Amino acid sequence: MGKEKSLGQYQKDQMLTVEITDIGNDGEGIGKIDGYTLFIKDAVIGDKVRAKIMKAKKNYAYAHLEEVVEKSPYRQEAKCPIARQCGGCQLQNMTYERQLEFKQNKVRNNIVRLGGFDASFVDSIMEPIIGMDEPWRYRNKAQYPIGRNKDGKIVAGYYAGRTHSIIPVDDCLIGVAENKEILDVVIAHMEKFGIAPYDEVSGKGLVRHVLIRKGFTSGQIMVCLVINYRDGKSGATAGGSADNAREYIPGQQALCEALSGVTGMTSISVSINTEKTNVIMGLEIHTIRGKDTITDTLKGLQFEISPLSFYQVNPRQTDKLYGQAIEYAALTGSETVWDLYCGIGTITLSMAGSAGKVYGVEIIPEAIEDAKNNARNNGIKNAEFYCGKAEEVLPEFYERLSKEAESDGTTVGSENNTKALHPDVIVIDPPRKGCDEKCLETMLKMSPSRIVYVSCDSATLARDLRILCDGGYELKKVRPCDMFPWSGHVESVCLMSKV
Ligand code: SAH
Repeated sequence: MGKEKSLGQYQKDQMLTVEITDIGNDGEGIGKIDGYTLFIKDAVIGDKVRAKIMKAKKNYAYAHLEEVVEKSPYRQEAKCPIARQCGGCQLQNMTYERQLEFKQNKVRNNIVRLGGFDASFVDSIMEPIIGMDEPWRYRNKAQYPIGRNKDGKIVAGYYAGRTHSIIPVDDCLIGVAENKEILDVVIAHMEKFGIAPYDEVSGKGLVRHVLIRKGFTSGQIMVCLVINYRDGKSGATAGGSADNAREYIPGQQALCEALSGVTGMTSISVSINTEKTNVIMGLEIHTIRGKDTITDTLKGLQFEISPLSFYQVNPRQTDKLYGQAIEYAALTGSETVWDLYCGIGTITLSMAGSAGKVYGVEIIPEAIEDAKNNARNNGIKNAEFYCGKAEEVLPEFYERLSKEAESDGTTVGSENNTKALHPDVIVIDPPRKGCDEKCLETMLKMSPSRIVYVSCDSATLARDLRILCDGGYELKKVRPCDMFPWSGHVESVCLMSKV
């Protein structure tokens, strides 16, 4: 007997027919044969499929979908012809309603299983997922790599799965319609002026990526070409208006003219990136036509967005997500609020109008600069921002003010200090890895009446909710929100109250 056979009855390349009875974490189909689990990408719950085992383990295998034998009632034709290769959308062949149900369950199950909350309790407090009425063309930002296809033609598209080959994308349906128009202009210009796209292997060629951003309320559009530009003449950066005269791209004037023909175009820039890296943007930005930023309105406030700014990519859903966070915060005009992981201060500032004082904390210095400018531009005076890690800024602040309060309890400033130390509300919106324990500990010490947790990963959310609830909070509400239709990701907002 061969060694492989003794591992189990299933092996690589084996064909199996199986019914899909569940959905995995990333939206893949799950089927079982005699307790042996198959994970099959692009198979939809309710399908009966033929699949070929790609990688077999003792108790489970990853299999490739070969044929749909019986179609699930939840299966639909993917709208995008290259959805399967591109890898950006994992769920295009599942109906939108079923997709929302999947996301609702994903959040619920993670809170139950990973957070150790009682299932019927979670069911009693969960609110229905906020879906999109029109789940297409929702992204306000796109970054297209530029390269060559097999025939040597210049193309824009997406890297296939985890590979380095570009799949040409004519018109990505989750992006704005202007993307295609802009890419056509850029590629035609490159062809005409003999400009080479960047080649990852040789490090030669000029144009690496095209970044496009659109303000959905303002209609303003920004294009930033990420280029492998090396200035042979001098290492000095001229700065200011002299830069506008510099030619970073052959035929720059003509390119700007052509791009200006796109409705809404108000900002054209280049980002210099000469590094051999898969980081897209270079930090050196030069505006070559129009303004440095575009403007967008969110919750009635104006935000300036530069090529490097962090800004939520689905503005219509962001409005609803923030609306839910604001509702949970239940502000009446006098409260003190901390907003941790605040980015450019969008949540902080949208709460400022109904709070007494708001504090924002964020690790990226440029984002904090943006936040301060955004506060000023909107005439907001009761917002204060701190740059640093939430898990360092908050404990330091707490220690310092506690000491001051101890030794100086009678001074005039003490009332504000007490409020900052023990705020009414703490909002957190951490990246996927969730909140640092040191940060959670300090939050518990600060003992706010309410905690509003905005999360883009329900697994780390569940872990953190457990810590906060063991520390004296009660989970009151959970509401998922679909920020990324057709992908497996789901955002959620939770409300906790001090017991
Ligand atoms: N609330 C903002 C941003 C959320 S994204 C919005 O809705 O737009 C999460 C933010 O956390 C990012 O801006 C990221 O730069 C920041 N961040 C990541 N790690 C951090 C840390 N340890 N401390 C503070 N901020 C952090």
